[in-house]
Amino acid sequence: MNVPGDRLAAILGGMRAAEACRIDADTSPDARLLAVSKTRDAGEVAALAACGQFAFGENYVQEALAKQRELTHVPLEWHLIGHLQSNKAREAATAFDWVQTLDRAKLVALLAQHRPPDRAPLNVLIQVNIDDEASKSGCRPDDITALSDAIAGQPRLRLRGLMAIPAPDPDMARRRDAFRAMKSLFDDLAARHADIDTLSMGMSEDYGLAIAEGATMVRIGTALFGPRNARRPGSSTSGTASSA
Ligand SMILES: *Cc1c(COP(=O)(O)O)cnc(C)c1O
Repeated sequence: MNVPGDRLAAILGGMRAAEACRIDADTSPDARLLAVSKTRDAGEVAALAACGQFAFGENYVQEALAKQRELTHVPLEWHLIGHLQSNKAREAATAFDWVQTLDRAKLVALLAQHRPPDRAPLNVLIQVNIDDEASKSGCRPDDITALSDAIAGQPRLRLRGLMAIPAPDPDMARRRDAFRAMKSLFDDLAARHADIDTLSMGMSEDYGLAIAEGATMVRIGTALFGPRNARRPGSSTSGTASSA
C-alpha cells in the first residue's frame, strides 16, 4: 500500500467532485493543491513529490530552507503560508516561489527589493483577515486596493490573487459565508487586475466547501500527511497561520 499516494489520490478526487458543485462549473478553472508540509520531514515531502505533487507550503522560513537543502534534486515549488515578519522578508524573497501572506505595504517594498534579479518575479497573494479577528494577520478588505496597486507597480513581484484563513468555525454555514465574501473580493480585484488567477482558501476540513465557493487553490496538511504530532515550539497544530 502506498499511503501518501492513496491520500493524494483521495484528495484530488474530492477536489474534482467539489469543482462540479460550483455554480460556474463549466467555465471555472481546476483548483490546485498545495501540500502543507510544516512539521514534516524532507523524506515525507520527497514521497509526495514521487507521486506527482510538487507544490509545498511552509509556515517558517528556516524550516523551509532546511528541507530545501535536502531536496535540491527535486524541482519543487515552495509557498510561504505563515505570517511574515519584516526582518525575515529578505530570506523569504529568496527561499520561496510564492508568498501567500503579504498583508501590509512595508512587505511590498521589502520583498521587491530582495527578490534576486536572476529569479522569476516573486508570486504574491494578499492575505485578507476575512473574519476581522483581532489576533490574526491579514489586511482589512478595505486595504486590498491600495496593496494590489502597490504590488502591481513592482516589476519584481507578480500579484496572483488573494489568500484567507477563515476562523475554524464549527458552523459550516459561517465558513461558507467567509468563503463567499472572499470570492466576491476576488472578483472585485479581478476587475482591477485582470491577470490574477489564484484564490487560496480551504484546508483539510473544509476544502470541498471552499472549492465549491470558488477557491482555485486549497492548502492541505493533515488530510495528506496524517495528524501532526511533531510540534515545533510555538507552532500551531490547528489551521491558524503560525509566525515565520
Ligand atoms: C497548517 C496550515 C494549513 C493546513 O491545515 P490542515 O488543517 O492540516 O490541512 C493551511 N493553511 C495554513 C495557513 C496553515 O498554517
